[in-house]
Amino acid sequence: TWASVVQGPPDPILGITEAFKADKDPRKINLGVGAYRDEHGKPYVLQSVKKAEEAIAAQNPDKEYLGITGLPEFTSRAALLAYGADSDPLTRGAISVTQSISGTGALRIGGTFLARHYPHAKAIYLPTPTWGNHIPLFRDSGLEVRSYRYFNKDTIGLDFEGLKADLLAAPEHAVVLLHACAHNPTGIDPTPEQWATISDIVKERKLFPFFDMAYQGFASGNIARDAFAVRHFVAQGHQVAVAQSFAKNMGLYGERTGAFSLTVADPEEKARVDSQLKIIIRPMYSNPPAHGARIASQILGDATLYAHWETEVKGMADRIISMREKIYSILTHDLKTPGTWDHIKNQIGMFSYTGLKPDQTKALAEKAHIYMTSEGRISMAGLNGGNVEYFAESVDSAVRG
Ligand code: PMP
Repeated sequence: TWASVVQGPPDPILGITEAFKADKDPRKINLGVGAYRDEHGKPYVLQSVKKAEEAIAAQNPDKEYLGITGLPEFTSRAALLAYGADSDPLTRGAISVTQSISGTGALRIGGTFLARHYPHAKAIYLPTPTWGNHIPLFRDSGLEVRSYRYFNKDTIGLDFEGLKADLLAAPEHAVVLLHACAHNPTGIDPTPEQWATISDIVKERKLFPFFDMAYQGFASGNIARDAFAVRHFVAQGHQVAVAQSFAKNMGLYGERTGAFSLTVADPEEKARVDSQLKIIIRPMYSNPPAHGARIASQILGDATLYAHWETEVKGMADRIISMREKIYSILTHDLKTPGTWDHIKNQIGMFSYTGLKPDQTKALAEKAHIYMTSEGRISMAGLNGGNVEYFAESVDSAVRG
């Protein structure tokens, strides 16, 4: 029956982990995976998450199904986290929100909702480059995937002129996917002034902004600062869609905890949109898992736990920022490595586009046992006090050839 099924290509990121696992050298480093590691290179469970789990266990919860759109306390607290307490649609009851299977599931619900209900041409513009999964995800949702320029490989910075030109040339009502903060894979975000310009263009061209917010708090260590783009757009009167993930900022990767929301005209429209979200979700997976949503809800709803969580998110962000500074300083000052390395410390979030070329990344894997994507993206979280110097020295050797 399946004789004509062809072998598909392996996932590019998971392939890196396999090569890493097969390597027996004790100095090996995996910079492929997008999950936070502590200063000893180990997976990290937040103390605030452990405390939330203790509080939940003490309530002795049952294992009944959640509703189709998930745990109501969780979704309302997730919306509050993204939009902020003084958000106009939030105070007017004009945000339609559902729990989702983490950020990926939120994007997929949003893609499907747009494909089914958006009353205009169903094209979505994604930045080049973007998170690899965006392309098949939106295509499988039934949208036509297009692209706008984002990365300038000469400056290893934002191609703001290209971005503006492409959004200005997009047809009216096109959907535009924006990474709310900590752009993956480049680590390059627009400045607040550039966001204001993007908001003006989106308004002028009547584009529909869809924010992917997978890293709130994780980029700068500050929840509100990382929500700047979303909140600015909403304050400027845009209707937005937002995909949220608690994988990174609460370390809930495998718990699959997220939310999808849309700002709508009023509570009456919200009721209609909510009903259609349920009609999309019910045949896909019926209802979402409870445990992660209970954890996130417990943290977001308890002032003491929330404060603890905020310090822990900032701790993760600061550790990553300190690794950026360390690499910059070793390459620039100690080793005087050819080239400029400012971008490493100016970029934000878990990922960095190093500017290393495919032959250099290949040499790093073969000679130094350091694994990253072939286009030179590293996950900063894989670096720590114990391996950052070895990493920088190996980069230096690879660059000198
Ligand atoms: N969007 C972006 C930009 C991401 O980097 C990720 C995680 N790699 C996601 C969405 C979704 O992740 P998850 O489904 O684990 O929340």
